[in-house]
Amino acid sequence: MTKPKPEIAGNAPAPKKLTGKPVAKGVKRAKPRWKSPYAEAEIEEIFRRFAVQRPEPKGELEHVNAFTLLVAVVLSAQATDAGVNKATRALFAVADTPAKMAALGEARIAEYIRTIGLWRAKAKNVALLSEALLRDHNGEVPDTREALVALPGVGRKTANVVLNSAFGQLTMAVDTHLFRLGNRLKFAPGKTPEEVEDKLVRVIPEHYLRHAHHWLILHGRYVCKARKPECPACVIADLCKADEKTTDIPAPLVPIEVLDPVQAEIAADR
Ligand code: SF4
Repeated sequence: MTKPKPEIAGNAPAPKKLTGKPVAKGVKRAKPRWKSPYAEAEIEEIFRRFAVQRPEPKGELEHVNAFTLLVAVVLSAQATDAGVNKATRALFAVADTPAKMAALGEARIAEYIRTIGLWRAKAKNVALLSEALLRDHNGEVPDTREALVALPGVGRKTANVVLNSAFGQLTMAVDTHLFRLGNRLKFAPGKTPEEVEDKLVRVIPEHYLRHAHHWLILHGRYVCKARKPECPACVIADLCKADEKTTDIPAPLVPIEVLDPVQAEIAADR
């Protein structure tokens, strides 16, 4: 099987390698054009600690294949992962392929997802995107951003999640958590998600890009929360340059084996 090619912006030489880990051949990135308050070694250390905490981070949207991941991400706009999972368990049990979903039809899809915000528009989009996959892609989820964003209800963020999680591409899906962290920590400030995405891809060491999206989402969801960051529980408190920071003492760096499911539901509903 052919490995998916990394998706990286820019043409300048790759950044200096800071650890003994190999940098993938043929991947070139432009250096940041702005003056970051972090030294390269500090960014390297931040992501090294995230990697120790969660060596194999996973998204929290339940899915069984690239198609159900795509549908789950489309449904997750302005909804919690926990809320989407509650609805999709029954939906995906009867429709886990574009053919089955298209056969189910908009009205019956709507019955399964009524508990999710914007369910009418989302049911329509899921039916239409299933038909488009059958018509234009032989019932397969395409592995390019261009083809994904041409599907009904699929924007850049959704495409980036699918490219990263289903196809292993080095994309950065900027949701509310990544947008907040990029600006709050000042390592990827920007006024738009695209600006933050562009800086994250440039500043994060290449060997951490595969999982960086999930690490940042989970850090933002459970520790560096929107209203009140929990700095005493933060493993990068000594490195963080956020104005809101309340301590310089990092929390003990230990792997997070299994997140308490009750806490996860509570946090996801916030
Ligand atoms: S120290 Fe506080 S503000 Fe900085 S990343 Fe950690 S939780 Fe967020």
